Amino acid sequence: MPDAVLLLYALVLGLCVGSFLNVVIYRLPLGQSLVSPGSRCTKCGYHLRWYDNVPVLSWALLGGRCRQCRTAISIQYPVVEIVTGLLFVLVVWLTPVGPLLVSRLILVAILVALFGIDLEHQILPNVITLPGIVIGLMFSAIAPPGWQDALLGALLGGGVLYGVAAAYYAVRREEGLGMGDVKMLAMIGAFLGWQAVLVTLVLSSFSGAAIGMALIAAQRGGMKLALPFGTFLAVGALAAMLVGEPLVAWYAGFF
Ligand SMILES: [Zn+2]
Repeated sequence: MPDAVLLLYALVLGLCVGSFLNVVIYRLPLGQSLVSPGSRCTKCGYHLRWYDNVPVLSWALLGGRCRQCRTAISIQYPVVEIVTGLLFVLVVWLTPVGPLLVSRLILVAILVALFGIDLEHQILPNVITLPGIVIGLMFSAIAPPGWQDALLGALLGGGVLYGVAAAYYAVRREEGLGMGDVKMLAMIGAFLGWQAVLVTLVLSSFSGAAIGMALIAAQRGGMKLALPFGTFLAVGALAAMLVGEPLVAWYAGFF
């Protein structure tokens, strides 16, 4: 059990990383630079000062509005910061300090960014997933799951979804799964190993099916819903990382 000071550091670090992820989610799909110019109000162009950029606090103190023109600022910004902060606390709580902790925090940041971008734009940019595969494999040389499991995970994750995408296309003559999903699950496998790929697939498919059926039951949209699968992959991978081992042990207990 790490001490409270360490967890507080994790929270502050997560809030700041979340603040940067907001920039990534907003600017990357638009092809804009992540570093310059500094943050501006998208409506009036007001240049945010450092005290307008304090995670969560600035948004709350300004009542969710621009300091200058009072245009509403999306609640997505503090939500991404809080979610990233809480995930960092959870990961630091569950992981001993070392290379594995660093790789898990990097993966959390990547998954939050991909979740947000896929939800808004229905894309999973190569500029995130491909370096992600490399980073995951590099960490596996010095941290769990080890390079053999990581390599197998990348191949299995990419291979399974590529097979599903190819089969869907052969039957329906249209694209059901994007190549972005294929690369994203390969990246998840590179970070977490092949067992986690299976857990991620099961969790994301079940949650995707459950939410899809709920939407159909609520009569929103037709039978064929274009829910971005990357968002489910992100949630499934986070669950696989945080509770995958106890989950598999519990499931295996039935046999
Ligand atoms: Zn403004």
